[in-house]
Amino acid sequence: MKHLVILHILFSSFLSIAQRNTKPKIIVGIVVDQMCYDYLYRFQKNFSKNGFNRFLNKGVNFRNSTYNYVPTYTGPGHASIYTGTTPSNHGIVGNEWFDKDLSTVVNCVSDPKYASVGTNSSEGKCSPKNLKTYTITDQLKLTYPKSKVISISIKDRSAILPGGHLSDGSYWFDYTSGKFITSTFFDKKLPDWLEQFNSMNNANSYTKKWDLLFEESKYSSTDDTPYEMVLTGKEKPTFPYDFPNLKGSASYFTLSPFANTLLTDLALASIEGENLGKSDDSDFLAMSYSTPDILGHSFGPYSREIEDMYYRLDREIERLINSLEKKFGKKNIAVILTADHAVVPVPQMLQDLSLPGGYIFMDNLIKDLKDTLVLHYKHKKEWILTEENQQLYLDLENIKSEGFNVNEVARFLKENLLKMDGIKAAYTQEELIYNVGFEDEWKAMVRKGYSYMRSGEVVFIVEPGYLTKSTDLPKAHQGTSHGSSFNYDAHVPLLWYGLNWKKKEVFTPYEIVDIAPTLVHLLDLQRPGAMTGKPLIELLNDEKR
Ligand SMILES: [Zn+2]
Repeated sequence: MKHLVILHILFSSFLSIAQRNTKPKIIVGIVVDQMCYDYLYRFQKNFSKNGFNRFLNKGVNFRNSTYNYVPTYTGPGHASIYTGTTPSNHGIVGNEWFDKDLSTVVNCVSDPKYASVGTNSSEGKCSPKNLKTYTITDQLKLTYPKSKVISISIKDRSAILPGGHLSDGSYWFDYTSGKFITSTFFDKKLPDWLEQFNSMNNANSYTKKWDLLFEESKYSSTDDTPYEMVLTGKEKPTFPYDFPNLKGSASYFTLSPFANTLLTDLALASIEGENLGKSDDSDFLAMSYSTPDILGHSFGPYSREIEDMYYRLDREIERLINSLEKKFGKKNIAVILTADHAVVPVPQMLQDLSLPGGYIFMDNLIKDLKDTLVLHYKHKKEWILTEENQQLYLDLENIKSEGFNVNEVARFLKENLLKMDGIKAAYTQEELIYNVGFEDEWKAMVRKGYSYMRSGEVVFIVEPGYLTKSTDLPKAHQGTSHGSSFNYDAHVPLLWYGLNWKKKEVFTPYEIVDIAPTLVHLLDLQRPGAMTGKPLIELLNDEKR
């Protein structure tokens, strides 16, 4: 009997060493666009056992994970998760920015050199060329060329940036055809499995009437509030949403929960079609659910629409991981769930609750700044080219040709911005590049999101609870957005499930750039490119040798 016990101990310790050394057959990176950290708890009582709760009850939960730069938008978020560094290094400083050479606003993944594949529209003219360093998925392909990397999303940037430069396929949704497409940067044609998926799974076939998943008493949010957008064809922002019969319904597909179902189905089809998880080397599926963001912009984080959509997304995640576990077993998968940013409550709601918050209308702000400039400098030409991402892009040629110093003009603009309601701080390019002046946490975040060539000459940040909008129309007071350095935008879920991980809650503060450095060790890779993050020690201590 004694021998048996010893044998058992020996055998199980041998097993655990053997298991610990196994790399995952498949890593699935799930980004939920605009997911706030507190959704995990606010909605938990109606979550199923094996969706988000699978991570909370059987996975590792990093409860203090935040963004460490501004601006907190989708492009920079996905790039930072997958490169393990900030926009100052990877170059994705916004979803769009003003290109100083082309004198026009460019999309972070647009690339006119390449053509669309799978559509006649121009939505495929994209590449990751603006990404200045390589991603963890690039590093995986460099080190283990037989590893496959597939990345998918509704949004182009959320598919392209996670897949990096070497992905075996990056696919996103074409709004005109309702199908998934790619660009000639990646391939000349769609793979057969995707052609087949597209022919059987058009967005139209997913569009249904959207009613509450549960009885009304189960919801914590109110359905009819003045803070939500009213869809065309509706009188109130209330359930049900009869999408097939709603005017303008085609454009509403991506804000409906059915777009999440379509993406889950595509994920499962890509695993089958690409034979992911079948070879000796680890494969990577990067996927990003865009609907939570598109819906969140229109309705805000406290709407019933968001609440119900998360109950449905919870079921999609359950379905996805059930399938992964059935196929590969829990010990052979590693699933990461996080968000590219979170979101501010609708500022009008904050104001009505007597909380700090409000709006800054950019048409007024720019006009005031221009008037003040002319009054002071008495110049003739246009000096402010445009405003993007709360940054002023100045016409350097015009300022110089009229005999003035750009740095001095930038300082003048900064001082005048600081006098305006709702502006918390402003920084000039000189301060950011040479780190002139006082450094506080906000300036540090701005510097991490700043690029000399791609960012403006003056950057400002708004007070907590404030949003910038172009014009003061009634619609400006409905719905919400993100992009700030503050916690409502920066604090996101970071959950890991699979391998030998057991339930663990980690309260150590970590940053979003720490995800990819952790994958470096799970996959035995060189740290890629300009990675600056540090690994999540509590996760690796549980897992590795
Ligand atoms: Zn957004």
